[in-house]
Amino acid sequence: MSVRSTSTEPRLSIGGGETETAASGSAEGAGPIPSTMRAAVLHAPEDLRVEEVPVPRPGPGEVLLRVRACGLCGTDHKIIAGRYPGVWPPEFPFIIGHEWAGEVAALGPGVTTLRVGDRVAAENHSGCGQCGMCRTGYYNLCERADRRDPSYKLYGHTAPGALAEYAVRPAILLMPLPEQVSNVEGALVNPGALALHGLRRTGFHPGCSVAVFGPGVIGLLTVLFARAAGAAQIITVGRGERLSLARELGSTDVVEYDAGDPAQGVRDATGGRGVDYVYECSGNPAAVAQAIGSARRGGKVALLGLTGNKGVELNTDRLTLDQIDVLGVRSSPNMYPDTIALMASGAVRAERLATHRYPLERIGEAVEALRSRSMGAVRVIVEP
Ligand SMILES: [Zn+2]
Ligand SMILES: [Zn+2]
Repeated sequence: MSVRSTSTEPRLSIGGGETETAASGSAEGAGPIPSTMRAAVLHAPEDLRVEEVPVPRPGPGEVLLRVRACGLCGTDHKIIAGRYPGVWPPEFPFIIGHEWAGEVAALGPGVTTLRVGDRVAAENHSGCGQCGMCRTGYYNLCERADRRDPSYKLYGHTAPGALAEYAVRPAILLMPLPEQVSNVEGALVNPGALALHGLRRTGFHPGCSVAVFGPGVIGLLTVLFARAAGAAQIITVGRGERLSLARELGSTDVVEYDAGDPAQGVRDATGGRGVDYVYECSGNPAAVAQAIGSARRGGKVALLGLTGNKGVELNTDRLTLDQIDVLGVRSSPNMYPDTIALMASGAVRAERLATHRYPLERIGEAVEALRSRSMGAVRVIVEP
């Protein structure tokens, strides 16, 4: 539940000595802000330590947030393992974490759209705002992204993340959470918005048939959003227990990945026709061709998973002769408001995907649960 302060908003003076606040009394989240905080700091690949670091300070247009829930995803796992050397993160030490919700703790100069105590979910792509892509709303594809231009940031990847007690973000990246959306669910807005972006990219329509490859968090959220958006048939392709979970979440059919050709499994479930839309969420190179093989003539295939630059073999004649569209889906530009609205309405109930919760001090166990998928971990949430 959001708690608003009723008196003076704490404002941090920038560059002005100690981290004072005008503590506004009793409200949770609006108490005094300490000068240091606990954070999970990545010092090198596989060297993640919880330690005391300075609380960041919001500059003009920025907001200091008390982090309440931060999910760990496959990308975090790869960043910790050092799979994107020199890119994510560009340097060490670095604070990761990019799927999160928190509470406004203090406002930097010029912020008028939020109040201390507001609960928010944070976006990660902060585009330059001036290039052609940013100006058409595709700040996820900012043209300055690759040049280490300071006008572009990808928080949790190229700029400090949120596996810490506090984080600073530009106010423009913060979307208020209504009280029906918990902090833990707020930490699922980021992957949920990606799933919604996938549906939008394909031109999803009510009454359609879909196949979802890879029932990880993104795949399961795709099931939830597809059901909420009116899919008539949802076929999930994956393995074992995750398929049972997919069924519980609204999947009408499941195809065991290892039981023969999964594309044939999808075709069998649609009377041989194939589905209108396929969402490839596994990142498995073999699944890309299988996803394409599952689409009907004129169907669309959205790629939400990354293969890690592995080669994918494709029969492009099938794409041409059956006029199949293959679409890349990156991040979730302008998708947070509708994602949050669907969660608040109850149409999408994502919280049950948050299977494991840990305090920040137990980050090692959290990462282990993420990696081993031990005890059926779907989404691991850290609550600093
Ligand atoms: Zn992620
Ligand atoms: Zn830009």
